Amino acid sequence: LEKPQVPSLETARAFAASKHRLFIGGRWVEPLEGRYFASHNPATGNKHADIGEAGQADVDSAVAAARGAMDNPEWSEMKPSLRARLINRLADALEANIDEFAALETLDNGMPVRDAKFFHIPHAIESLRYNAGWATKLNGETIALSGMGTWHAYTLREPVGVVAQIVPWNAPLAMACAKIAPALAAGCAVILKPAEETSLTALRLAQLIEEIGFPAGVFNLLTGFGEPTGAALTAHPGVDKVTFTGSTAVGRLILRAAAGNFKRVTLELGGKTPVIVLPDADPVRAIEGAARAIFTNAGQVCNAGSRLFVHERHFDQVVDGVGKLADAMKLGSGLEADTQMGPVISEVQRDRVRGYVRSGVSDGATLHAGGREIHGDGFFVAPAVLTGTDAEMAVRREEIFGPVLCAMSFADADLDRIAADANASDYGLGAVVWTNDLSTAHKLARKLKAGTVRVNGGGLDPALPFGGFKQSGWGRENGREGIDAYTETKSIAIAL
Ligand code: NAD
Repeated sequence: LEKPQVPSLETARAFAASKHRLFIGGRWVEPLEGRYFASHNPATGNKHADIGEAGQADVDSAVAAARGAMDNPEWSEMKPSLRARLINRLADALEANIDEFAALETLDNGMPVRDAKFFHIPHAIESLRYNAGWATKLNGETIALSGMGTWHAYTLREPVGVVAQIVPWNAPLAMACAKIAPALAAGCAVILKPAEETSLTALRLAQLIEEIGFPAGVFNLLTGFGEPTGAALTAHPGVDKVTFTGSTAVGRLILRAAAGNFKRVTLELGGKTPVIVLPDADPVRAIEGAARAIFTNAGQVCNAGSRLFVHERHFDQVVDGVGKLADAMKLGSGLEADTQMGPVISEVQRDRVRGYVRSGVSDGATLHAGGREIHGDGFFVAPAVLTGTDAEMAVRREEIFGPVLCAMSFADADLDRIAADANASDYGLGAVVWTNDLSTAHKLARKLKAGTVRVNGGGLDPALPFGGFKQSGWGRENGREGIDAYTETKSIAIAL
């Protein structure tokens, strides 16, 4: 990687310091109740932005604007190729401003700017480009009928309508674009609500959308908290679909709120991903992989590899190796070139993560490495590796969303037993397997109850369906399934 630069830092700081209104119906508007809330830089704890808070009346107005866009032939009858062109233009604009977006993401979320510039923003751009390609390929099919009569029957894929999209703070722009891109490619109208902790890149993105010339109301941005903004959106009868990424607890509330008018619902929720190191794996590669799986983004990743199962042959080497990496990890502001781990998002989250480490130890686990106390400004948590946990401990069962790893050893090579331990969770978002045996990799992958199984690394791509088994979610984002979820199938039958 080239040495990270933060060339647009001053531009990003100036943008953060401006007053941030709501974007509704193609215009920047004051929140109707006139309320703004403070947003903080997690590396310093200082306030760095004033963000408009949308209330019920703003939600009503955004829903009316989005419905208006769906009724406007300029959007509803726009050629798919033109929709694709607009989305690609947005990707180009994002790419042209990548340094500014990376700096903004780091200021707002705390992540190392290198991660923002070389992973998060490029992922957002790729989501836009990938889904732009689908706009011209949303074909139905002709259907051969088997009953009585002679008909010509076929299906159409129509946009589902007005979509409310609610995203969390851990990958703000990447997650927003992974939702916006397929919705716009399918011809829907969007109301995006970023997390209250991280609104800045979504606000800057709305400026680009305004400049690019989408018809008014196709994209609306409502900043604000889960309550009242998110809750009002998910309960609104004028919204046809809700897509949500966040905690399993809020996912449940959203399901209930959506029931009123049977909104279509896609949920990407929490995880407790197992990482399994088999006896034939290369332990050196597994050490790097396991550390990356849990420490990236300070563990604030839905798919973070938070449970490490290592065959006893490699257990000491792998756990010591991951522990050494944890101890040596350079924590600091994401703006510093050599920072490997930034702060967690907030004081509440910092205290929560530290609390899990303490509760693990008081429940009888051993703090094998890391977990050192960190003093000073900013919301920093030292990475920690725990051994000696049992399956009932909170630290093993619950999603921590921080850099805390539970490491366990296993002795046998029976894949059913290994899979049973890995599957012993309410979550089923991801799983990682380290092995050099191709046949074992495929066999174990089939036994794991997870939406994504990665073998020897492997990452995230807008073309690869992503979502959860069990309490990790409903439906899939990305890939063909991701865009299909923004359409309704209409069957048409003509008697011949
Ligand atoms: P959260 O559920 O608290 O908040 C997520 C979003 O929901 C925020 O925008 C918030 O304002 C909004 N919200 C809160 N209450 C709401 C309500 N009653 N109605 C509507 N919206 C409401 O989650 P978080 O703490 O911001 O994010 C961390 C969680 O996100 C973790 O559980 C993590 O696993 C999950 N996550 C999942 C994925 C995935 O793809 N499966 C990806 C990233 C994060």
